[in-house]
Amino acid sequence: DEIREKRLKYLSDEKRIKAVTVLFSDLEGRLHLLDYDKKFLLGSYENLTFDGSSIRGFTAQKESDLRLGIDWSAFYWVPADIFGNGKVLVFGSVIDKDGTPYSGDLRGVLKKYSDTLYAEKGLTLNAANEIEGFLFAGRDAERKFHETGKFEFINTGGYYHVLPLDPLRQFIDTSAEVQRSMGFQNEKDHPEVAPSQFEINYSYGEVVAAADQIQLYKLLTRQIANNMGYTASFLPKPVVGVNGSGMHTNVSISKGKTNLFWDEKGQEQLSGYGWEFIDRILTHALDICLVLNPSVNSYRRLDPHFEAPNQIKASATDRGSMVRVPIGNSRSMRVEVRSVAPDANPYLALYSIFKTGIDGTTSKIENLRQAERYLPDNIYSAIEDFKASKWIGQILGADVQGRYTDLKQASADRCPRALGTFVKAPEVQYH
Ligand code: GLN
Ligand code: MG
Ligand code: MG
Ligand code: MG
Repeated sequence: DEIREKRLKYLSDEKRIKAVTVLFSDLEGRLHLLDYDKKFLLGSYENLTFDGSSIRGFTAQKESDLRLGIDWSAFYWVPADIFGNGKVLVFGSVIDKDGTPYSGDLRGVLKKYSDTLYAEKGLTLNAANEIEGFLFAGRDAERKFHETGKFEFINTGGYYHVLPLDPLRQFIDTSAEVQRSMGFQNEKDHPEVAPSQFEINYSYGEVVAAADQIQLYKLLTRQIANNMGYTASFLPKPVVGVNGSGMHTNVSISKGKTNLFWDEKGQEQLSGYGWEFIDRILTHALDICLVLNPSVNSYRRLDPHFEAPNQIKASATDRGSMVRVPIGNSRSMRVEVRSVAPDANPYLALYSIFKTGIDGTTSKIENLRQAERYLPDNIYSAIEDFKASKWIGQILGADVQGRYTDLKQASADRCPRALGTFVKAPEVQYH
């Protein structure tokens, strides 16, 4: 295809490029980087293999070899001081030995869903995430946490509030500049409510690119922080008593140039189609909860005292509701799913949100949008819901449902079983 030929020519002509980093994500969304020598890649891109047995949630040891395909449309230059000299990066797809897409590759699942909706119905799925995170003192803050039980803030500022050259501001500025240089369209960025907390907002994009961008943003901001002697953390609730970090997920669906979620005369100017999308999300809220809040730690964030939702409701204003309808216009009208944590697998989360909103069922619960229903306040109950869910079996298949359940059960079992009370050690995942 055309893009592939263009990229191949570019790679072979561009003398500065020595190697290509291929990125893919495991079942939990952990990003994996594999570097190929450029000359080797140019000759062998159709025959790439890797050992899947050490990738969590992928193959068992006895069937370890998997193939790697290249998605030539997801190709990025990254500044050398962040990514090393002479390298470009590209996203890969994981392929089974028999040549079919690998079921544990959720990027592939999302891409197939998005491509099919476009081919069959002309629909484009759009997403933009508001990723929040913390900047902590020291390069080894997450390791040190295990010894001291504490993360150290680098400033005491608050919402929008630091000096222009504060280290947090410098970190945000560098992150924004890297985003720009890679071709992403920034909108705004700022220190968040908690000390040492940050957020960036950028323009929405097609759903696969939007999920890739989350992975890149987290990877590159962690490297930028590391270069500065800090740690960027995307743990949902690293510190008790202050706001946690969310990853509010804004979604809309368009057909050609028309945003199908916009209706000037609709309630909150959201179309009937948009409201039905919300109703299906609310109906299946417990089915998909573990996907949106995948860690022990993410349940500690879901507390309305800290602007994070715990109710299965939809509202234009109430930030305790898992779904909000922000004010918008004919272009920007969207639905905001607020219960998503930044350590969620973005491909799995976005696939589940869209698949549920489009193809899910609507419950007959009276007053569904305002009913008093709550999200689980601990991972154990979310695992039970996920494991027993017919809907999850239907959209992910029994195989992925089972393997994801096992991984989450194992991570829950590694933590002290403390329901309702905040124990000292949140589960630190290196996302
Ligand atoms: N940090 C909050 C959350 O966890 C959001 C706060 C905000 O964006 N004002 O969702
Ligand atoms: Mg925001
Ligand atoms: Mg915010
Ligand atoms: Mg928001």
